[in-house]
Amino acid sequence: MKSVEPKVFLVGETKINSKGLQAYLDYLGVPNWETDAPSDSEKIVEVMGRLCYRSFEPGLNPNVTKVRQGNKPYIEHIIEVGHGSVLEHAYLNFIFADVSRVVTHELVRHRAGTAISQESLRFVRLETLSMYIPTHIRENEEGMEIFVRTVEEMERLQKELSSLFELDKHPFELKKQITSGLRRIAPMGVATTMGWSCNLRTLRHVIEQRTDPSAEEEIRLLFSNVFSIVRNHFPNVFGDYETEMVNGIAWVKTKHKKV
Ligand SMILES: Cc1cc2nc3c(=O)[nH]c(=O)nc-3n(C[C@H](O)[C@H](O)[C@H](O)COP(=O)(O)OP(=O)(O)OC[C@H]3O[C@@H](n4cnc5c(N)ncnc54)[C@H](O)[C@@H]3O)c2cc1C
Repeated sequence: MKSVEPKVFLVGETKINSKGLQAYLDYLGVPNWETDAPSDSEKIVEVMGRLCYRSFEPGLNPNVTKVRQGNKPYIEHIIEVGHGSVLEHAYLNFIFADVSRVVTHELVRHRAGTAISQESLRFVRLETLSMYIPTHIRENEEGMEIFVRTVEEMERLQKELSSLFELDKHPFELKKQITSGLRRIAPMGVATTMGWSCNLRTLRHVIEQRTDPSAEEEIRLLFSNVFSIVRNHFPNVFGDYETEMVNGIAWVKTKHKKV
């Protein structure tokens, strides 16, 4: 058995097509508009928000005599007034590695604004079982001994069944059927991989829900790690959050919940 912790990789994010954006600004009559957005994701949020009132500069819409300058104040205002739908325009792509099926099963409950690809345990043969060991078990010597012994026995059974069914000798289709059969006795805590993409509005909501002290330990750890990445990468979208350590994991909270 291998003891692991969830790992987060931010592998993709929205990119501005500068030529296309410039063509739109020319069309609108504000060819010199620019912003200090720290990322393309925050820039697209600002553009999509400003187009609603044509608030790129004062007077462009005669009803608008003052505009907020700068990406930070602009996004802060959007979050304050709960105009969260503009955050949906920016999309991020994560890979979560060494996360249990406990975590992935909870995460798929978030349907709005997500895309999911999950490592197939029908195709991928289980040999060494990797697992996150929750604190209560890790800190109890006897509990730990039972936990490790059980997982090691499960590993042994996987190998015994693989060899009983002579998995290596079969064509791929049959291997797949047998592998799928064997995963039925794999534990729910087995670490696996998930590709998870979401828009920025969804990400705010999921971070709030899943780092809350009432959430499950491993998913709290996963989303506190997600938060440490996105707070630095998208400082204006996550600038209103505060953290408080609860049981060694950051609880990420804001007064502007679920915008
Ligand atoms: C601490 C904790 C404990 C939990 N325990 C359980 C449990 O015991 N059993 C269980 O089954 N689940 C449990 N859940 C899962 C929970 O019920 C939700 O399914 C999960 O948190 C997804 O969040 P969401 O409903 O906000 O949906 P998301 O898909 O994240 O959607 C975001 C928001 O979009 C809106 N939305 C999304 N879909 C719809 C829709 N179809 N219609 C209208 N509005 C929509 C809602 O406003 C929603 O809040 C738990 C979650 C947490 C955080």
